[in-house]
Amino acid sequence: MFDIIVVGGGPAGATLARLLGKKYKILLLEKRAFEEDKTDHIKSCGGLIAPDAQLMLAKFGLGIPKPVLLSPQLFAVRTIDIDNSLERYYQRHYINVDREKFDRWLAELIPKKVKIINNCIYKSFEERDDKVVVNYSYNGRKKEAKAKILVGADGAFSKVRRQVSNFDPSPQLYIAIQEWFKSDRPLDYYGAIFDSEITSFYSWTIPKEGYLILGSALKPKDRVNQKFNLLKQKMKNHGFKFEKSIKLNGSYLYRPLSNKQISIGYKRVALIGEAAGFISPSSAEGLSYAFKSSLALTKALKNDIDDYHAQYTRNLKPLMQNILWKNTKSIAMYNNFLRKIVMKTGLLSIKSERIEY
Ligand SMILES: Cc1cc2nc3c(=O)[nH]c(=O)nc-3n(C[C@H](O)[C@H](O)[C@H](O)COP(=O)(O)OP(=O)(O)OC[C@H]3O[C@@H](n4cnc5c(N)ncnc54)[C@H](O)[C@@H]3O)c2cc1C
Repeated sequence: MFDIIVVGGGPAGATLARLLGKKYKILLLEKRAFEEDKTDHIKSCGGLIAPDAQLMLAKFGLGIPKPVLLSPQLFAVRTIDIDNSLERYYQRHYINVDREKFDRWLAELIPKKVKIINNCIYKSFEERDDKVVVNYSYNGRKKEAKAKILVGADGAFSKVRRQVSNFDPSPQLYIAIQEWFKSDRPLDYYGAIFDSEITSFYSWTIPKEGYLILGSALKPKDRVNQKFNLLKQKMKNHGFKFEKSIKLNGSYLYRPLSNKQISIGYKRVALIGEAAGFISPSSAEGLSYAFKSSLALTKALKNDIDDYHAQYTRNLKPLMQNILWKNTKSIAMYNNFLRKIVMKTGLLSIKSERIEY
């Protein structure tokens, strides 16, 4: 019998387990191996730690160790507005990391008292008397564990969330595709591409230690492959070189277009991170939301594990306001006319003094 069972050892689940691991008896179920080269469930991610996530790491008193970092560290966003044929550079600081190593590092910080089971798959839960009974599989065998509460930190396509809420109304679903190309001349910026012919969200380029990632959040069932190839073609016309393709991966991305689309669970089951729908609706930055929601739940659970839910809801107020603000910002970002006005004024942009070597 555990106090808390956490499903998912990504940034949200690992942070919760780290913060509460000494106070409560915790079981963490994770399908990845967390061992070098042993996992076949690699998270598809840009691996950029944005300023909001950096702030959370600062609050946690954490500094990222060197082996987790990848070059180059980035100080600019090149915004390419294909709809309006405009381009601008903006100053923004990103820490560029190896996402798998970043997650492994967060997992290493979890107190030894926490029982972590890797390579297991969470299946379902049921409520019995005053506890939750969790079913999972390990090495092909069915297993069962009991706890006072269950926390779903199992990411965008959360099984826990699908069992507690049907997300009614549901966030906007996208398929996020990323293709990695070998690149011996890295670009020293993060590229953000707006093109309504490709997607109602946005596409991106990220340089990553000898590779260039081209990514896009695309509407499912809307000629995803064709649109991704068209994007590639258009970016070549903008001077991008896509040499040898190394890998292509995709994952679901749920974009919360209103606060009603966030689902935080109920008395016995709480949701955090992307499982709850916490991700920026303007940029798809999700690490700060994973950290903030796990901290909000930590603070609620520290007070009272049997009656934490109302406190968790209250603690989430700033994050909910943030989602509201990001959706308001999105009105200008994703409207071709408004974006044209903002970019034409050059507001907050920097003058590029780059030279070609
Ligand atoms: C293509 C793409 C690029 C992105 N780039 C960035 C970026 O550069 N910067 C940024 O801040 N955000 C980025 N995001 C968002 C960010 O990756 C997520 O918001 C963040 O990872 C959410 O953390 P989480 O812990 O909530 O979920 P996740 O990181 O998804 O972790 C969920 C964990 O649960 C485990 N799990 C899932 N199902 C089960 C199961 N049934 N049983 C056991 N374990 C399970 C998974 O293995 C995983 O470890 C990106 C997202 C996408 C799709």
